[in-house]
Amino acid sequence: MEAMETSTEDAKALRDINQRVFVNRSVTLENIKCYGFDMDYTLALYKSPDYESMGFELIRDRMVSIGYAHEILRYTYDPSFATRGLVVDTTYGNLLKVDSNGNILVCSHGFHFIKGDHIQTYYPNKFIQRDDTERFYILNTLFNLSETYLYACLVDFFTRCTRYTNLKKGFQHGDLFMSFRSMFQDVRDAMDFIHNNGILKERTIKYLDKYVIKDPNLPLLLSRIREVAKVFLATNSDFNYTEAIMKYLLESNVKPGAPKTPWRTFFDLVVVDTRKPLFFAEGTVLRQVDTDTGKLRIGTYTGELHHGTVYSGGSSDIICDLLGVKGKNILYVGDHIFGDILKSKKRQGWKTFLVVPELEKELQLWDEKKSLFEELKCLDLFLAELYKELDSGSESSREIGTIQTRMKVLTYRMDMSYGQMGSLLRSGSRQTLFASQLMRYADLYSSTCINLLRYPFNYLFMAPPVLMPHEAATQTSVEFTSSDPTVKNHAVTVTRN
Ligand code: IMP
Ligand code: MG
Repeated sequence: MEAMETSTEDAKALRDINQRVFVNRSVTLENIKCYGFDMDYTLALYKSPDYESMGFELIRDRMVSIGYAHEILRYTYDPSFATRGLVVDTTYGNLLKVDSNGNILVCSHGFHFIKGDHIQTYYPNKFIQRDDTERFYILNTLFNLSETYLYACLVDFFTRCTRYTNLKKGFQHGDLFMSFRSMFQDVRDAMDFIHNNGILKERTIKYLDKYVIKDPNLPLLLSRIREVAKVFLATNSDFNYTEAIMKYLLESNVKPGAPKTPWRTFFDLVVVDTRKPLFFAEGTVLRQVDTDTGKLRIGTYTGELHHGTVYSGGSSDIICDLLGVKGKNILYVGDHIFGDILKSKKRQGWKTFLVVPELEKELQLWDEKKSLFEELKCLDLFLAELYKELDSGSESSREIGTIQTRMKVLTYRMDMSYGQMGSLLRSGSRQTLFASQLMRYADLYSSTCINLLRYPFNYLFMAPPVLMPHEAATQTSVEFTSSDPTVKNHAVTVTRN
């Protein structure tokens, strides 16, 4: 373990970086006429690992109640195991961390990590065709963490249980075959069950302090935005749950003596039951919610927008019409890379802001372990130099092998400092599928939307220019000194290599 001493200056720099919004594509906030927010894991951040742990216990218990062995009750949630964005291979029961092209970075079977060449016995090209959605399921959201871990527990349990015989696609017990696919389906069904029958939401509401982070700056952020733009809430949650959570976040969050503002007045429009990603396509019927009973009014709502009214369903097009805004002037803030970000960008051209709660820990570890990454980068360059000496007649060099082994060791050490599956965003020098989608579809990203408070509402979030490899390959070294006497004496060297 590399112990690092953090100086006060370092700690300050780290705190600042935790409050930053990062930019993939430039966004001029002045052009944003409307801010949309998702609720779960966006405005309402759940306390980790308590919340995932509760979800895990509920689905584990559900599995036992549908017939799985009581022995699985021995498993408890381990937050160090899974990261968001893993892929389940329902044919072989493996959990995979992959890059944007489906190349396998990490592969586990239960809690056993399959190494190097052995991966090829399952995947000859160390690659998956992730478009095969029948076989591969991407665990995209933070809600999925508990089921990712439960699936690993089940594979672990059956692999070690002497009553079952291990086969390539599942387990045999007498005349009973338990396929990896059916086990995953059972876990998915259990997850849907605890979401839809209300038990997860009931527990959350009962112990709000334990499970939901109450940020005292949230009312301030929303009221400041409302002074300059329209604001809406679009959540897949139902009205009763939304009301309980938003009351907690916005009404019980006022300073003593300050007037209590009803939560709905923070928004120009509230839509529940949105069924994202469908919401960003054809959507569903828009209905009005009776806020006294939580019941839906029958018929499709066709009237004007009324402040304080809550709607159910609808679509992004309907919302734009009701609010009188164009998609390109909307900044939508959400945590779901597919349902919130990819779909609103690809189908509607909205500006997007991805909330990545894991970023705080990722940044801290990135800072602590950057010496490993620096060495990895140097070895990369050194390797390139060695290859430069070779041509089509050359034999492979032993030195190259030594460097590649060292690079594997460094990658492993970096990965392990994040958790058993490594970082959410990379494995050594390679980026994950999640990272590539984040860069492609999220214009902005940050660990929390509260960080928007640190920027003025006319701010230009400027994306760093990125060179293509052929552009970066041309060596230009430009040295210039500013002739402007008001500019501090600058000697800037721009080197492209
Ligand atoms: P949002 O993030 O505010 O749009 O809301 C997410 C909603 O989706 C919450 O009400 C969750 O309970 C629900 N949800 C999340 N994951 C699942 C799932 O796997 N099955 C069913 N409902 C889910
Ligand atoms: Mg969400």
